Amino acid sequence: MNPRERIPEKKRIVVKVGSSSLTHAQTGGLDYTKLEVLVRELCDINNQDKDVILVSSGAISVGKRVLHIDQSEKAISVKQACAAVGQARLMMTYQKLFSEYNHTAAQILMTKNTIIDDLNRFNARNTFEELLKLGAIPIVNENDTIATYEIEFGDNDSLSAIVASLVGADLLILLSDIDGLYTDDPRKVKDAEFIPYVERLDEKIMDMGKASTGSAVGTGGMNTKLQAAKIATCSGVDMIIANASDMHILHRIMDGREIGTMFAAHEDEGFDLLSFVENMNQ
Ligand code: GLU
Repeated sequence: MNPRERIPEKKRIVVKVGSSSLTHAQTGGLDYTKLEVLVRELCDINNQDKDVILVSSGAISVGKRVLHIDQSEKAISVKQACAAVGQARLMMTYQKLFSEYNHTAAQILMTKNTIIDDLNRFNARNTFEELLKLGAIPIVNENDTIATYEIEFGDNDSLSAIVASLVGADLLILLSDIDGLYTDDPRKVKDAEFIPYVERLDEKIMDMGKASTGSAVGTGGMNTKLQAAKIATCSGVDMIIANASDMHILHRIMDGREIGTMFAAHEDEGFDLLSFVENMNQ
């Protein structure tokens, strides 16, 4: 059986979109055209009786724009302040767009402690379950306003895989500024070859991760995407990396078409989400 044939049957889907796919590169301002299509696609998936969770970046980038801070600013305290402003702005926009389709967006902000602490993890899982039962669409981000080095996930690629694992998702879709996995960085190496399907994440595949992306915003390179693939596939979740340049790609993926790179789930008995998260960034 072609592994893509199992995609249309998926019931619980986590979609991750990075800052560079939601904002205009020059200004950090939201790309409303893309956001509108993204939200419509998510509502359409939800209307097919599937659970949808969105992991959205963009808080810091949008906050910088609102507060007239240069997009290249790195100071933690400034980024935290920008996140406080930008996250609210981001959610206001999502609430408005989702309500246009009679859907309800809900916000969940997480840190590493949400996973490591037993009670926090229990509460977070229950909240996801309850929201999905009520038909709401949870929108997740890292709690950038209070997250510092010790408690931060560091990037939303890993966060989305952790969320997928936490809620027992069937599929994780990472929408990025690249078509999927290549044997080398296609922006630098001309004969880099595209890899449409990864059955198992071995060392050779992990080595294909590059530390940087072409974008000035966001923190995820291919390296973090492969880390996410490890978390997802070891937790029994199929994962697809695809290009966010056209958000309509979502329904094409859900139709089971050969788009992006698919990483096959293979539940790993030895994989422990808690200790994985505990050891992140160390
Ligand atoms: N959480 C950050 C934000 O919303 C982005 C992290 C990432 O892009 O991976 O601005």
